[in-house]
Amino acid sequence: MKEEVFNNITGWYEEVRFKWKVYNKYEVLNYEELKDKFNFEIQVPKDYHYIYAPDNEYFNKSYKVYNPVEENIDIFLKFSQINTDNKDYILDWISKYGLPGKLGDRKNHLFNEDAKRLVEKGIIYPYEQFVSKINKANFLLKLYLLTVVNSDYKEIKKHTTCEKLENEMYSFNFKNLAGEIYLLEDKPNNSDYGYLALNVINNKIRKELKGIVPIIGDISHVAYEGDEKDEWNISSSWQCNNLMSALYLHFYWLVTQNERIKKCEYKDCGNYFSANRTDQKFCSTSCRKKHHYHQNK
Ligand SMILES: [Zn+2]
Repeated sequence: MKEEVFNNITGWYEEVRFKWKVYNKYEVLNYEELKDKFNFEIQVPKDYHYIYAPDNEYFNKSYKVYNPVEENIDIFLKFSQINTDNKDYILDWISKYGLPGKLGDRKNHLFNEDAKRLVEKGIIYPYEQFVSKINKANFLLKLYLLTVVNSDYKEIKKHTTCEKLENEMYSFNFKNLAGEIYLLEDKPNNSDYGYLALNVINNKIRKELKGIVPIIGDISHVAYEGDEKDEWNISSSWQCNNLMSALYLHFYWLVTQNERIKKCEYKDCGNYFSANRTDQKFCSTSCRKKHHYHQNK
């Protein structure tokens, strides 16, 4: 699988080292309930609920480990299309892939070091922040599909305004790009929306991929006697530090490699997925079966 991913999708063949934990169970707690769980002092904002893994490594240590970069090619598409109306859908996704491991910037300073460590280990995560990360990913997916896949600028205008795109730019701290939007504001033409949409996507990917860093590892050394020079072999690889970065690495691949994104043809699903074959019509076996079942009734 790994070889396929790195040869076909990225063109590089380098390992991304990453092991992410998925605990047995997750639950949603309020601030007081969360604080009661730990015998050390954790400081977190009071106005959030928290997703918490009761079987975390400080207690029972029961979890599975996987590499989200190498497996689950559709992890970004699945994340960005979680139905946020229902807590169960959210917990269901988390029980498969784990918690994000990285806070948003805005309230980061309200977490003390112990609380941050719990977040980084995928043991806790603010529920409301998780929902807003899904919504943001969904917004970016929509922008991508409308711009690159459908070139439907009218529809982009329906979903967003120059103003909204501009706010996105500010939230990513790319103020000079936001400045360019002022110039467009008088009379933005259609492709301006596409141009801005792709810039918004680019900025978000750049920001999230900061969690992936190069590492020089597996150094071996051969020393020769006499005149011959020593030989050093240094392998290169990348290390991913949190699930959010892995998600956005997948999005980066989708965007840059023109991945075949399709809409599931089962009417009650309609989710986007990346097709392995050109004639693939459904996102999953279960959608294919349900579609045929309803057709034959
Ligand atoms: Zn489907």
